Amino acid sequence: MNGKPCSGESRRPVRLGNRSPAFAGILALLTLSGCATVPASTPRAAPATAAATTVPPAMQWLFGSGEGGTASLQAYRALRDHVLRSARARPADSVVLAEGSTLASPRFVPCARKPLAVMLDVDETAIQNLGYEYDEAVRGRSFDSAAWNRWERTGERSVAPMPGAVEALRAIRAAGIEVIFNSNRQAANAAHTEAALDFAGLGPARHGETLFLQGDIAPGSGKDPRRAAVAGRWCVIAMAGDQLGDFSDLFNARTLPVGERRRAAVEGPFAGLWGNGWFMLSNPVYGPGLRGGFDDIFPQDRRWSDPGERE
Ligand SMILES: [Mg+2]
Repeated sequence: MNGKPCSGESRRPVRLGNRSPAFAGILALLTLSGCATVPASTPRAAPATAAATTVPPAMQWLFGSGEGGTASLQAYRALRDHVLRSARARPADSVVLAEGSTLASPRFVPCARKPLAVMLDVDETAIQNLGYEYDEAVRGRSFDSAAWNRWERTGERSVAPMPGAVEALRAIRAAGIEVIFNSNRQAANAAHTEAALDFAGLGPARHGETLFLQGDIAPGSGKDPRRAAVAGRWCVIAMAGDQLGDFSDLFNARTLPVGERRRAAVEGPFAGLWGNGWFMLSNPVYGPGLRGGFDDIFPQDRRWSDPGERE
């Protein structure tokens, strides 16, 4: 769902964690936002063959908990405040990486005299795909690209905004700053994605103007070509997403190990961007962040073995 570019694949190729025994440990590593809200429309009746009787813990957190909802609210308030401050200061550079950047040496597209904009991912950043996630959960099914495509075309009234998104985008637009969406939803379904954003109270979004989708600008799920096109016309002063690929495709290199990917995001030249131009929404339900074995997640020198269990 969501234009979540995972490791360069389309939309939501990596779908771990829902029912993984390692999920609790993964969730404990997450820190920022998420969401919670009531469904925007009546859910479809559970199929008679429903395999699941419980909601996956990650979905409980993201779509149902106060913790997830307030984390989203927190992220959107920080985004709004940063954008309004940054607009007054007129930065020299955007927050979009310039061509030729590397994780070790990023450069940013200059703003020059371009009009101001913010750029957001759509799925689980701006909207909650409650209808699709309900269907997936109740069937006990993992991500299915054909089902997702049907969701894009028919589910626009079963979404809800991420907590805080409507208010933040309203304030940003009121300040004369454009709101642009960059999603890995399919360009062929653009009218439906425009409608979903409208239904959630986050529109207007116009395909090719303020909405860029998979198939636009360049083929594939990489978002960098679309980011570059937007940054060529606009001074992008903030970006928001729920996956690192919503900020740069460099984080989705298949050769990047779990630990190095995390270090690249939280240390070095990118560390200062979080909450300061780049805003991350938490998503424990799916995405390329949900991977790694014990050696990836738990440092050897920080392990503990319960002495009460020793013989
Ligand atoms: Mg997303």
